[in-house]
Amino acid sequence: MRPQVIIIGRPNVGKSTIFNRLVGKKLALVDDQPGVTRDRRFGEATLLGLDFTIVDTAGWEDEDPSTLPGRMRKQTEASLIGADVALFVIDARAGITPLDEEIARYLRQNRVPIVLMANKAEGRQGDPGIFEAFSLGFGEPVAFSAEHGQGLADLFEALRPHI
Ligand code: GDP
Ligand code: MG
Repeated sequence: MRPQVIIIGRPNVGKSTIFNRLVGKKLALVDDQPGVTRDRRFGEATLLGLDFTIVDTAGWEDEDPSTLPGRMRKQTEASLIGADVALFVIDARAGITPLDEEIARYLRQNRVPIVLMANKAEGRQGDPGIFEAFSLGFGEPVAFSAEHGQGLADLFEALRPHI
């Protein structure tokens, strides 16, 4: 079986764009409106010769963040079962939000290895967000731009030990 990599993060950080970038086809819906991805989506990804199944999630998008525990966590929990590694995505331009911190707390309780990704990091506008992301406690974030295809080699290096 191919290793499974799951993409997790709050709405609008670019999860579906990352999925599309790694799968190379427009399989996941991308939209400016949070919550467009209704379900989990599976794709076959290749990253510099590394082959894996990638899963786009919307577990934190279906409900008001104030009701975080409930159904959202159940969905994410279900997705994490069988995952070899999780890509935890933050928006480098927006910086760290309370929901990012909530998701980080949740992921720390899980046994799946985490690769932190600071997406939207093209140009210099993402620099403060990349620095802030260290505070989440998952080490150095992979600076990435799904839209511009930047950071693929660093993502490869971060993923390779886990798959
Ligand atoms: P999701 O809700 O996490 O799945 O986020 P989407 O993939 O739907 O993207 C949300 C918005 O962020 C869209 O307008 C994307 O075009 C934009 N976006 C995604 N990746 C990047 C990136 O690398 N740089 C910039 N500037 N915008 C991005
Ligand atoms: Mg999405």
